[in-house]
This record gives sequence, structure tokens and C-alpha cells, in this order.
Amino acid sequence: MTVKEILDKTRITFSFEFFPPKTEQGWDNLFHSIADLMPLKPSWVSVTYGAGGSTRDRTHDLIMRIKKETDLTAVAHLTCVGSSREEIADIVDRYVENNILNILALGGDPPKDATLKPAQDGFRYATELVEFIKSRHSQICIGVAGFPEGHPATPNRLLEIEYLKAKVDAGADYIITQLFFDNRDFYDFCERCRLSGIDSPIIAGIMPVLTKKGMYRMVDLAAGVRLPARLLKLVSRADSDDYVAKAGVHWASEQVRDLLDNDVRGIHFYTLNKSPATIQIYESLGVRTSEQFLL
Ligand code: FAD
Repeated sequence: MTVKEILDKTRITFSFEFFPPKTEQGWDNLFHSIADLMPLKPSWVSVTYGAGGSTRDRTHDLIMRIKKETDLTAVAHLTCVGSSREEIADIVDRYVENNILNILALGGDPPKDATLKPAQDGFRYATELVEFIKSRHSQICIGVAGFPEGHPATPNRLLEIEYLKAKVDAGADYIITQLFFDNRDFYDFCERCRLSGIDSPIIAGIMPVLTKKGMYRMVDLAAGVRLPARLLKLVSRADSDDYVAKAGVHWASEQVRDLLDNDVRGIHFYTLNKSPATIQIYESLGVRTSEQFLL
């Protein structure tokens, strides 16, 4: 099934994001997490993509393994960075041959070690990737990224929404947001999207703070994300990782509760391949499975 079809028959979707592990142990751990998360019946799961040969293959391998071993709908992330037009075409064709018809089309960030050179005939922005995929395989359902607090490369927030609208006009079916910690940023983003004529479903990206170290890594990776002082105070009171995780899950649960009360279209959990936080958030909301939101 495509994400569009799932959205059409669901009031609120719940999706989980995984990354392809690098080690055997990582694969085992991930499939244990997936087994733990299966009873929550996610609307779909997605797999991140890292530019560069082996990372790229791991995304494909994980997508295929999820398809083979579970009944979950899998969405493959794909980025412009570092791939030629031909390479992107190969990847997309291979997905279609295997009946994977869901892609999250992204710009991607150049790797910090700069070993990956930009492809001469590649794509610069996600809009071009969306156009390319749609023209090659119109049956593919495409998601794109949105940034409630803005994307660092575009300080002009009016222009940024125009670029987002261009992705939607190019054929994107829905938007998943960068993680955020203050729901007011998300609501304001949604309103700005509506004002500019974007009426696609907007799915809120949620990631709980689980360790202090992880919090630093998170703001490094998710550039521009703001940690509200109230959250920092909460985390600073916790004197162990166990308590940071409890506090972080509490904050994320409150965020999701408020989003549900305000008719959010979907929640996308950045799971970091772990299951406990997502399960605890479901429990604290009184949600047994995502299927209770089917229309
Ligand atoms: P784009 O839409 O291409 O935008 C990138 C920047 O260019 C923005 O500042 C935008 O405003 C600007 N821009 C767009 N069009 C134009 C134009 N025509 N002229 C000038 N400027 C323009 N990264 C990975 O490497 N792998 C992943 O799997 C991955 N998954 C992600 C999942 C989600 C839900 C999100 C929110 C992000 C993910 N990222 C991933 C990170 C993402 O690739 C980066 O944040 C990237 O910098 C922006 O991606 P984008 O798709 O918004 O790019």
C-alpha cells in the first residue's frame, strides 16, 4: 500500500523511522526492536539513506528485509547528495521492480569528511528529485521534508515555504517534519504552509531526549532545532541517563498528546532503532495500536 492510500483511510497515522545498522549486532538489535514495536501496528516504517556505496546498499537491504519478514509498509529515504542521475534511476527502478512504491525524497547533507564529490549530472534540490521520480514512475508515492523552525540554508522563511511548495507542486504527496520540541513552532509552520497554498498532509516528527550526550548529538544533526529552556531545566534536574530518559519521554508524550488534541494528521517517531521510548509514549497516551485511528 502507498502512504497516500494509508493517509486516505486513517485519521491519524503513526510511523517509525529506522536507520540501516552497520554491524551484525546492530541488525539483530534492530529486528528485536521491530518485533517489540510490531504490536503497536505502525501505519508504516521508514528507512534512512546515507549517500555513498555501502550505506546506500544497506538502505535497500533493510527495506527488502522488512518487506520479506514483516507485513509492514516500508518507505525508503533517498537523497540527491552524491548520486548521479543514472544511479538514482537504478535505485528507483529497483524499488519499483520489488513493488516498493514509497519514497521520501530528500536533499541530503554533504558528508562532513567531504570524500563524496557532488555528481556532475545529479540533482541539487529535493524538488528536482521529486520531479524525476514522478516522471519516471508516476505510481510512486513521494514524501518530502519540512522544517518547522526553518532550514539553516534558507534564512529567508518566506522563500523557504515557497521552495517547500515547489516540492509539493512537483508531485510530493505529504510532508514529514524535522523533529521539534515546541509544538507552537509546528502549528505556526502548518499555518504558514496553508497560507501559501500547501494543503498536503503534514506529519509531525518527534524524537524524545533520552540521554544528555544524545541531546548534543541531536542538535548537531538536526541543525537549527531549538531546545526550550523548560526542557533544558527538566533534563538538567535528572541525575542519571535513566532519569533523563524518563523526563524526555514525558516531554515527548505531552507533545504528542497536545498534537493529537489539535488534530495532527500524523506522528513520525525518530526511533534510533530502539523500542522502549515509543512504547512508553503510546502507553502514556492510552493508545494500544495505531489501528484505532483507522476511519
Ligand atoms: P531541499 O528541499 O533540497 O532543501 C535544502 C535547502 O535548499 C533548504 O534550505 C531549501 O530551502 C533550499 N532550497 C530548496 N529549493 C531551492 C531552490 N530552488 N533554490 C535555492 N534554495 C533552495 N538526510 C539524509 O542524508 N538521509 C536521510 O535519510 C534523511 N532523512 C530525513 C528525514 C526527514 C523527515 C527529515 C526532516 C530530514 C531528513 N534528512 C535526511 C536530512 C535532510 O536531508 C537535510 O536536512 C537536508 O539539508 C534538507 O533536506 P530537504 O529534503 O529539505 O532538501
